[in-house]
Amino acid sequence: MTDVLNLIGGARVGEPEIARRNPADPGEVVAVTPSSDASAVDAALTAAVEAQAAWAATPAPARGAILLDAADLLRSRQAEVAADLSREEGKTLAEATGEVRRAVDVLRFFGSLGWRTSGEVLPSALPGTTIFTRHEPLGVAALITPWNFPIAIPAWKLAPALISGNAVVVKPAELTPLSVAHLSDALVEAGLPAGVLNVVHGPGSVIGDALARDHRVAALSFTGSTRVGLGLHRILGERRARVQLEMGGKNAYLILDDADAHAAARVVAASAFGLTGQACTATSRVYCTPGVREAFLGALAKEAESVTMGPVVSEQQLAADVAAIDTARAEGAEFVAGGRPPVGQFLPPTVLTGLGHDSSVVREEIFGPVVAVLGVESYEEGLDRVNDSRYGLTAGICTQNLAAAHHFAAHAQVGVVKVNRPTTGLDLNVPFGGVKDSSSNTFREQGTAALDFYTWSKTVYMGHE
Ligand code: ADP
Repeated sequence: MTDVLNLIGGARVGEPEIARRNPADPGEVVAVTPSSDASAVDAALTAAVEAQAAWAATPAPARGAILLDAADLLRSRQAEVAADLSREEGKTLAEATGEVRRAVDVLRFFGSLGWRTSGEVLPSALPGTTIFTRHEPLGVAALITPWNFPIAIPAWKLAPALISGNAVVVKPAELTPLSVAHLSDALVEAGLPAGVLNVVHGPGSVIGDALARDHRVAALSFTGSTRVGLGLHRILGERRARVQLEMGGKNAYLILDDADAHAAARVVAASAFGLTGQACTATSRVYCTPGVREAFLGALAKEAESVTMGPVVSEQQLAADVAAIDTARAEGAEFVAGGRPPVGQFLPPTVLTGLGHDSSVVREEIFGPVVAVLGVESYEEGLDRVNDSRYGLTAGICTQNLAAAHHFAAHAQVGVVKVNRPTTGLDLNVPFGGVKDSSSNTFREQGTAALDFYTWSKTVYMGHE
């Protein structure tokens, strides 16, 4: 598959125009997509609106059965889909395989909820009266997705949307169209009615903007940069449409003196260099109390030597990573690992130290395999540093001290706290999202919490006397 067309009202349409190349081997064209304009958004929304009522009227277990069949199809194609995902995004085959499995499991999780989604029955003070709630679908949801989890993120947005009875329009990241094509193929082949799922490829500023402004879009779920997310928030807020944003992070780890330096280094290396550091939950700042700092730095340098990483996703992202490293060098950073020029689009894992707390590499998101290690005098100072950020997605602490771990869990200003575990990687059944500029901090994604975003609650009084 090279031509990846739009999916509108069940038809694959559009002219292939824009080529995506393999970041590990730029001579290879992986996919060619249309560069659609607002007219494709209009057609997709027309199809979605037309299909939605019948979809919502389909019994939830029947909707779920389609998601479950799509999961089986995707599972049977796992090797091919993972290879394509790795070719278009650049993550290692092991990481890509894990991500495809995640998409399969997400479809299974929400598919099985077809038998369970329901409201509550509540007592009434009135005689002969039963109260219940119904969770109604919103209508049409727009899903704007990034390149770093090109199949898992679309899956964890569209599965709760579909099981709740919504129709959707997906705008995949320009860099990774193929993964969504595999996902949509599986759903279509599993019997999803035409128009319930639509996919429009094209520039984010054109397609995303048209989706955000159209009154037929009742809700928009976005994962991507803080800059774009905050712009979407303004547009959706003005017309009082529902919006869910997962944006940037500057995730921190705190290592206390009582931690095992080698175990801490393994946790931080996994958090900082997994997925080439291109996860919104990646660790990019580490604070060590004085007794562990040297041993931790030595152990982290060793871990960095043995890491297996894919290439950086694009030339543009690589240039931004290298510029951030150059700025750190100019600000006086010492390189404990990395600091060498990239080979092709492969950037060595980079560990920096000797920087001040206000240096740009400590404050600004990089989205690459770069981590800064700084000293703090105490747990209290460490917690203050962790919280001193415009972002609040994840944070971790390495310690065996239960009191410190519980204090950190209560006081870290982030959506997800990890104790002795990598900041990256969440189970599919747990609420995911952040605070501050990391997230819209309203509706969480993943698990049953994800259903709240795609439904509205109606209260019904049933008098029966
Ligand atoms: P990243 O740094 O991950 O590429 P972006 O925020 O640029 O983050 O992209 C995330 C998603 O948002 C992509 O699908 C992209 O096409 C889309 N996008 C980019 N610009 C806009 C915009 N102005 N409005 C809506 N969506 C956009």
